[in-house]
Amino acid sequence: MNSVTSAANVFRFLLGKGMIIAKSQKDMEKMRAVGELIAEVREALRAMVAPGVSTFELNKAAEKMMRDAGSIPTFIGYAPHGMVPFPYAICASANEQIVHGFSNETPLNEGDIISLDMACTLDGFVGDTAITVPVGNVSDELKNLIRVTEECLALGIEQCRPNKRVGDIGAAIQEHAESHGYGIVRDYTGHGIGRRMHEAPQIPNYGRAGTREKIRAGYCFAIEPMLNVGTPETKVLDDGWTVITADGKASAHAEHTIAVTVEGPEILTLTKEQKRALTLEVAEIASA
Ligand code: MG
Repeated sequence: MNSVTSAANVFRFLLGKGMIIAKSQKDMEKMRAVGELIAEVREALRAMVAPGVSTFELNKAAEKMMRDAGSIPTFIGYAPHGMVPFPYAICASANEQIVHGFSNETPLNEGDIISLDMACTLDGFVGDTAITVPVGNVSDELKNLIRVTEECLALGIEQCRPNKRVGDIGAAIQEHAESHGYGIVRDYTGHGIGRRMHEAPQIPNYGRAGTREKIRAGYCFAIEPMLNVGTPETKVLDDGWTVITADGKASAHAEHTIAVTVEGPEILTLTKEQKRALTLEVAEIASA
């Protein structure tokens, strides 16, 4: 889930002039554990997506997995600055919905795309992740949108290194999205993460390289680009939460929770299997 711009201002005030909380090694172990857990939930949901399945079913499965593992679904009851408490364990946002969509009993249709955003709290720390999944066969236009969104996520993560700046993340994401003609959403952003889902800093998906806060080892970030086929403008539905594109065109979203280490970014929201595959890949590159 992302940081609403005005909510981010509240967090910044509470945290005292945007103080970013560096995690200790012990905290980092807990961030790894919750990251791996929420990644397992994400991959289970990805595998469930199919024509005829409802987001209600996906939400139910996610909540059960989170609770069975001893964690708390972080989104349920989340109510920044007087908003209606969010009622579900996941945000399920189809097609022109960008983020914060409500689950419902309507079956997904072949050709839809569905963004699934989820977070849980384990041992006092939060992991936050999102994917956009094609439902059955989707158009090449939508496949491309999802691919470029994932590339933007990877490029943003690549910037998360000591002595880089938060503006470097947004600049890398914006440049790639716009080079493909997509609108990059400004109204919702990534964020610091730890004991709270939304900590400082706010991490826009646009901006100028070399600006904003300096990045240091020990920081944990949720990086989450949102790309629109059309314009970046957004609207909120009457439920008070669901964000849609102003022009009604499709939108995609991808998110990882990462840790900044002295060696560079470490993606925390990977499953055990994904970490193993990544280690093999790195070893192959190193030996080539
Ligand atoms: Mg988030």
